[in-house]
Amino acid sequence: MTHSSTLLAYAGRNTPRYTSYPTAPHFHEGVNAEVYASWLRKQDLDTPASLYLHIPYCREMCWYCGCSTRATRRNEPIAAYVRTLLTEIDLVADLLPRPPRVTHIHFGGGTPTILNEDQFAAVMARLRERFSVPETTEMAIEIDPRLFTRSLAEHLSAGGINRASIGVQTLDPGVQAKINRIQPLSVVARTVDHLRAAGIANISFDLLYGLPGQTRDSCLETLEAALSLAPDRLSVFGYAHVPHMKRHQKLIATGDLPGPEERVSQAMAIAAAAQDNGYRPIGIDHYVRASDEMAALARHGKVRRNFQGYTTDQAGFLFGLGASAISKLEAGYAQNTPDVKAWTKAVEAGIPATARGIELTREDRLRGEIIERLMCELEVDIDAVAARFSAPFELPDLTDLEADGIILRDGARITLANDCRMLARIVAARFDARLPHSTAGRHSISV
Ligand code: SF4
Repeated sequence: MTHSSTLLAYAGRNTPRYTSYPTAPHFHEGVNAEVYASWLRKQDLDTPASLYLHIPYCREMCWYCGCSTRATRRNEPIAAYVRTLLTEIDLVADLLPRPPRVTHIHFGGGTPTILNEDQFAAVMARLRERFSVPETTEMAIEIDPRLFTRSLAEHLSAGGINRASIGVQTLDPGVQAKINRIQPLSVVARTVDHLRAAGIANISFDLLYGLPGQTRDSCLETLEAALSLAPDRLSVFGYAHVPHMKRHQKLIATGDLPGPEERVSQAMAIAAAAQDNGYRPIGIDHYVRASDEMAALARHGKVRRNFQGYTTDQAGFLFGLGASAISKLEAGYAQNTPDVKAWTKAVEAGIPATARGIELTREDRLRGEIIERLMCELEVDIDAVAARFSAPFELPDLTDLEADGIILRDGARITLANDCRMLARIVAARFDARLPHSTAGRHSISV
């Protein structure tokens, strides 16, 4: 058993979340519209694709928000955004050699359910027109339960949505007041009822710990209330306080934030309670029912990690649509500008709105695979990964992690110790060749 002071010493360090490798701070402006267009033209379409559509609008800002979004009370900016999104779907489809087969579609934000029924139907129709979207495609959407109706649930279902991820975060009224997100359990329960009644049976909840005023007990009370609604999956994230990057987070009183010790205690309490209630842990922060597809994939080492976190998506590449959206192609990562005006201007001129990205080298792919396996399975056989890439790989120095009981080593196989899964980011960082050249302060605390 790892000593709690050792856990704490590591948990307080800043590390990337490793939803990609190389991580976003290493993207550069050399990957521009021209480069992205050339990547699209030569993309191999024999393997299936994923689509991510970003909707960067909310009705009001939650003060903890780390997403690329803005608040608006008006409907016109949303209508204009959807018009450009339809144009961007055409633009990407026109650049590809032929329509790819799409096996996963994810609507994220912001608040994708801010789209009205006609706007959502128009986007779905354009996707089906320009891409090959089989009946079996998983179509997921992020839902703000405060803005959800039975009618919208029925429209989403009719459009093909079959998975919903609900932002629950916390059900503690005191904490909700400190983050400007008032959302009683009854609102979440009503949303779940609407979804299930409309036939959208796969439901995930997002929960947060480390929020201002949150305690271990309030986290457990939220979890217990959330589990009364029987979600299929839970994603449990630590609040990342980065007011230098997200100015609205300055509205959160720093003195109200739990320290590293309390954060570790909250994360561990939630992990234990979720498992006591029959949920299987996936990676560092997901919990799924034993009957869930993700649990089955986990048994075969096939869970993947992408910008939305853990996923069953096995697609070979991803097209990101909308302001700030990131694409992952064979050649590398490309990110659209987060500036909605600049994104609109480029797309309406028939040019991809690419602002930055990175070309992938063979070494990046190899390191990315090691990091993804560590983040998903909490263990990796370095020799097996190196063999797949036909490249030798020299192990970094892991002596301290081994001596401190964070990892176990058997030759080139590295396994996180049982009580250290929350430190996977720390171990992954040892395989990140680019981290020493970035500023650790740009990343959030590891737990
Ligand atoms: S609803 Fe979601 S995306 Fe919008 S401000 Fe709140 S946390 Fe951010």
